Amino acid sequence: MKIHYVATECFPMAKVGGLADVVGSLPKYLNRQNCEVSVFIPRYQMPWFEGKLFQEVYASWYEMPHEHVGYRVGKLLDHEHLGYDLYVIDIPGKLDRTGVYSDKDGKYFYDEAERYTAFQRAYLYYLMFTQDKADVVHCHDHHTGLIPFMMRFCYDMQSISHIPTVFTIHNERYQGVFGWEKRYLLPAFDSVVGGFLEWAGVINPLASAVKCAWAVTTVSPSYMEELRYNSYGLEWLFNNEYHKCTGILNGIDHDVWNPSTDPMLEHRLDTDISDFKNQNKAFLLRGTQVDPFKPVISFIGRFAGEKGADLLPSIIEKAIFAGLDFTFVVLGTGDKAVEQGVSDLAARMPHRILAKIAYDEKVSHQIYAGSDFLIMPSRVEPCGLNQMYALRYGTIPIVHNLGGLKDSIQTYDGEFGNGLKFYKLQMEDILGILKLAQDLYYHPEHLHKVRTNGMLQDFSWDASSARYIQLYQRLIP
Ligand code: ADP
Repeated sequence: MKIHYVATECFPMAKVGGLADVVGSLPKYLNRQNCEVSVFIPRYQMPWFEGKLFQEVYASWYEMPHEHVGYRVGKLLDHEHLGYDLYVIDIPGKLDRTGVYSDKDGKYFYDEAERYTAFQRAYLYYLMFTQDKADVVHCHDHHTGLIPFMMRFCYDMQSISHIPTVFTIHNERYQGVFGWEKRYLLPAFDSVVGGFLEWAGVINPLASAVKCAWAVTTVSPSYMEELRYNSYGLEWLFNNEYHKCTGILNGIDHDVWNPSTDPMLEHRLDTDISDFKNQNKAFLLRGTQVDPFKPVISFIGRFAGEKGADLLPSIIEKAIFAGLDFTFVVLGTGDKAVEQGVSDLAARMPHRILAKIAYDEKVSHQIYAGSDFLIMPSRVEPCGLNQMYALRYGTIPIVHNLGGLKDSIQTYDGEFGNGLKFYKLQMEDILGILKLAQDLYYHPEHLHKVRTNGMLQDFSWDASSARYIQLYQRLIP
């Protein structure tokens, strides 16, 4: 079974968030189960690509009213360590940027529609005109959301209209909309099918994919249900297309996220979990003024409204002024007000708060290993991978009960359960749960139990990848 994954992110080449983790690991697990998955991403001008050797497997161009778009498809030569074939699509002037969605200063690229339509068209021409035939084309998020429409309806592409398409929604908040005046970015199609592109009067790649793909998946079952009631204006669409939608909980890559072998950790897990936690905590806080003898709560993530990052400064301040005993470690970038708020707090109370305003993969591993708790006050959480990484490294998640957090975290009841949850995103509920967390921390037998419960759980792709295989098998004629 040959599957093509088409996406704008893939770990370790180009990562902004969880999309990269999924696209960079699920194919490897599928390939271990006799699939043949190849991954197609843009060729960015980012550090990972430097010095890598690619064999050119296809090069061509297409014409638009005022533009000649040339592209090349290269295959990574030394790909054994990845566990799948990697293809990069090079479109000079469009994809060869120093960031995935924004430049180094965090300024978003203004030509999203032009870049992604070019990427998708180049992939589809490769599929049409080379011998590399796929049994299923699997697209991820709105950046590749026009592929199912083009395969079904564009005159040029009828030779591949029989290939099943799967579309996975990692985050419906980003839909990639653009106006009808840019219709020329797509190859020709009959105007009567224009409705398959549109939502609320504009071209909406995410909505189009939900309409046109043969199957739609979301990254957790609860998120699938939530989209029917709250999806930024697409509620009716999700209810209408519900019959072909499935929620499949994401997994994590146990080869990368392994506390016993992780090369990014200073102290790896031997047999004693307490030693592992204490040593990593000491390393994390070494050279800072933060008190290493208090319980540490961390936050790792994008400073965005979806993640509830704007609540962080007041959660931290109120917890400290309520007399709770925690110290806090925060790693993230994004909203400038949150960056400022967290940094100000850290400057005011350096013995209680450590703030790192950065994107740093290595530090994130060290925080998962060195913290006692990880807080996720998300407003939307399609799946969430942070809580799974935390569990793997013996850190107890404290989460808002929604989306993938609802599906992966069970409240510890003294015997069973792997974390703590608050059911409303309001300060008194959060502080109440933090108080419980503090009690848990000072009862070593319970602390050990809940940590072990989490570490023993298997959130690897082994389980979820089988569900994708079933889906592909169902679709292939
Ligand atoms: P989303 O994709 O919505 O941002 P996920 O929980 O699915 O959220 O995935 C987030 C991923 O990005 C995790 O691997 C997390 O560790 C990583 N991450 C987020 N922010 C940072 C950061 N500042 N530094 C390092 N890794 C980060």
